[in-house]
Amino acid sequence: MRITVVGGGLAGCEAALYLLKAGYSVELTEMRPQKMTPAHKTGGFAELVCSNSLKSTDPYTAKGLLKAELRLMGCSLLKIAAECAVPAGGALAVDRVQFSEKTGAELAKYTNLTVTRAEAEEIPVLPAIIAAGPLTSGGLLDKLALLTGSGNLFFFDAAAPIISAQSADMSRAFFGGRYGKGGEDYLNCPMTREEYGVFWEALTGAETVKLHGFEGAGVFEGCMPVEVMAKRGRDTLLFGPLRPVGLRTPDGERPHAVVQLRKENAAGEMYNLVGFQTNLTFAEQKRVFSLIPALKDAEFLRYGVMHRNTYLNSPKVLTAAFRLKNSANPLYIGGQLSGTEGYVESIMSGLLAAVALDRELKGLPEAVPPETTVCGALSRYIAAENGAFQPMNANFGLLPPPDAKRKQERGKAYHDRSLSDLTAFIEENRIEPFFP
Ligand SMILES: Cc1cc2nc3c(=O)[nH]c(=O)nc-3n(C[C@H](O)[C@H](O)[C@H](O)COP(=O)(O)OP(=O)(O)OC[C@H]3O[C@@H](n4cnc5c(N)ncnc54)[C@H](O)[C@@H]3O)c2cc1C
Repeated sequence: MRITVVGGGLAGCEAALYLLKAGYSVELTEMRPQKMTPAHKTGGFAELVCSNSLKSTDPYTAKGLLKAELRLMGCSLLKIAAECAVPAGGALAVDRVQFSEKTGAELAKYTNLTVTRAEAEEIPVLPAIIAAGPLTSGGLLDKLALLTGSGNLFFFDAAAPIISAQSADMSRAFFGGRYGKGGEDYLNCPMTREEYGVFWEALTGAETVKLHGFEGAGVFEGCMPVEVMAKRGRDTLLFGPLRPVGLRTPDGERPHAVVQLRKENAAGEMYNLVGFQTNLTFAEQKRVFSLIPALKDAEFLRYGVMHRNTYLNSPKVLTAAFRLKNSANPLYIGGQLSGTEGYVESIMSGLLAAVALDRELKGLPEAVPPETTVCGALSRYIAAENGAFQPMNANFGLLPPPDAKRKQERGKAYHDRSLSDLTAFIEENRIEPFFP
């Protein structure tokens, strides 16, 4: 059977390799080098557009554990990454040229692969996986927008940072909405006049990310970065996202400023900083936002970003197995387009979309890895209705907390539970991790 994969990036290459190993004929359509994206520089497969780091290798962190899970499922690109690794402390960093070349060479081993170097402008003939990435080109975008219905395709990612609830210092925070409305949906982080002054100075002097040309002016109307608003005047934030009106501390005092955190998921394990969309570098976000007293030891699960990023309103249009709900025939979305964020997360969704497509073509029921695994939790996140959808990367806030009394034991507990549950899932569903 013939399967079309659109996009020879991280997700598309991973998906194609899985399907090739499974014996399908794959047509891989990649528009570069004929038509370039604003970020890619080569015509090579699996080009890393920015950093060369695939992040932590520590299996007791969410990003490290995701890698362990993907290896268990026979992930091709992580195997190639290991062969091109360059020293990077506790991270898996690669020689990006070698990584791309080796991915191309791996694909070229398969006689059941056809590569088409052209821009896909139509939804492919089914079955297919679309993995055209955050910079998906115009014609295909229009068709995707039509297919998924109005308002279900987003073009910019303007996200505020997200922290883990358990890392907030509750001795400096309190729950409640303005004027006593709302329960635990908002966590309020008050500041005294002095604390606000220190915070404001740091925020207005902090280093921001240099925007690439394609991120263009006028893009962020109505969605101003918090540091830009702060620069308008010392008190501007006090009339904006940090306004204290209607809020009293448990002691009945009126704070000078209040940063409000809003629940990001139903379980209340993650909170986002309301109104804190930002262009600060990640290091500066950590430094400056940790000056908010309740967040001094905050664990940042995701930093704020503002950049061109095309992604679907996945909770509305995708299943947790990355399948388009309204398509009668097998049509899957992989990579950043599906709302997973990050290199390894893109590889993950490419792999899981391919696993799911293979199962559908074999007449098997949809199977999503357990919620106790990082890959299963992230897959469920993208399909779950939880307010305004934002892309998400691997983090433990998505998983049910494990039984571990001490904080230091938590990483190992997540790890052991995940790999044991994933092994059972692979065996139970006869997912073929190692094709000959
Ligand atoms: C500017 C930028 C920087 C980023 N930096 C990082 C980072 O440092 N670390 C990190 O973890 N994540 C980063 N990301 C997020 C994300 O992890 C990467 O974008 C990742 O490459 C996404 O994988 P993907 O497979 O979804 O898309 P891609 O790797 O971009 O692959 C999509 C492919 O589809 C092709 N394509 C697009 N449209 C068409 C079409 N119509 N027809 C045919 N082919 C098409 C593209 O040429 C591309 O090769 C960044 C994103 C952006 C936009």
